[in-house]
Amino acid sequence: MTVENVIIIGSGPAGFTAGLYTSRAQLKPLLITGNEIGGQVALTYEIENYPGFPEGLPGPELVEKFQAQAERFGTRIEYDYVTEVDFQQHPFVVRTQSGQEYQAKSVIVSTGATPRKLQVPGEAELTGRGVSYCATCDGFFFRDKNVVVIGGGDSALEEGLFLTRFASKVTVIHRRDELRASKILQKRAFANEKMQFIWDSVVTGINAGDNDAVASVTLKNVKTEEEYEFPTEGVFIFIGHKPNGEIFEGQLAMKYGYVLTDRNMHTSVPGVFAAGEIQDNHFRQVATSVGQGTQAAMEAERFLAELEDKGYEKVKAELLDSEAVPA
Ligand code: NAP
Repeated sequence: MTVENVIIIGSGPAGFTAGLYTSRAQLKPLLITGNEIGGQVALTYEIENYPGFPEGLPGPELVEKFQAQAERFGTRIEYDYVTEVDFQQHPFVVRTQSGQEYQAKSVIVSTGATPRKLQVPGEAELTGRGVSYCATCDGFFFRDKNVVVIGGGDSALEEGLFLTRFASKVTVIHRRDELRASKILQKRAFANEKMQFIWDSVVTGINAGDNDAVASVTLKNVKTEEEYEFPTEGVFIFIGHKPNGEIFEGQLAMKYGYVLTDRNMHTSVPGVFAAGEIQDNHFRQVATSVGQGTQAAMEAERFLAELEDKGYEKVKAELLDSEAVPA
């Protein structure tokens, strides 16, 4: 069996960037896409905050450009889904849904995260037409409009505060009467005149108006059971993210489902790197994922050069000794 130099798992901005860099380094990387090519970017209507595109561009178009650039230098793309990895042995083993088994000297994990869905009627149909999971991406389109934010954590308040720059009113809808978010964000949110709160309430439906865009949400007070319609043009859902990391449990050091890395994108296993939202629940931007993909690729390149010189056991011991690697 051929032993690959680098296998990249995932096809979001971090993965394609890692492909671009490792292919330009002549490492002939193999990128296994996963089920959603482009990840969250592919689901984003318009991206206006990725540098180099002053007019903005649709998310799927940016994904096509990322892929074309990675392929131009020799990244090989497999449209498959990784179901199992074994990082306890070297070369590492990667198995896929289609029954393929690969061996690799290094692996870059970039499987991303998926925003949690409310799973109420109207949510899927109106995504991109008033329903959003990213204020930084879509807030600009809601200038002088009334929007609602669902959730009571840090993301809900932080993104809600961001939305007050554009929207005329931001109403946070929370299922309890107490926020989970940090006190400092709560203080800022309560002090902001554009923010208001509806407590003890859940969204049971998202409703379209005449123009097939969001016109209201149906709310239910969980204490009184009262149900009513609340008019709004935007529904921003921040009820947590689910990192796509199940297959790495027991293989890599993880916390709350995220893969732990040091600042150079090393995981707890020397030779395995992680980049993008699978290891970053804080910034979650295309630009930061691209940066992390670059870092992971450059470190993989360095690792492979050392591997050639010294062999795995020596490089592994040196890396573990350096304390660079999270436990
Ligand atoms: P989170 O802390 O898990 O909060 C999710 C919120 O959504 C909770 O208030 C939860 O309600 C609510 N929720 C969950 N499922 C729901 C449902 N089906 N219907 C209605 N509401 C639902 O998620 P997050 O805010 O995305 O934060 C994730 C992590 O990133 C946290 O550790 C957070 O501290 C961190 N973070 C930090 C910053 C920062 O420091 N600036 C910014 C963003 C995120 P309950 O409270 O009732 O459970």
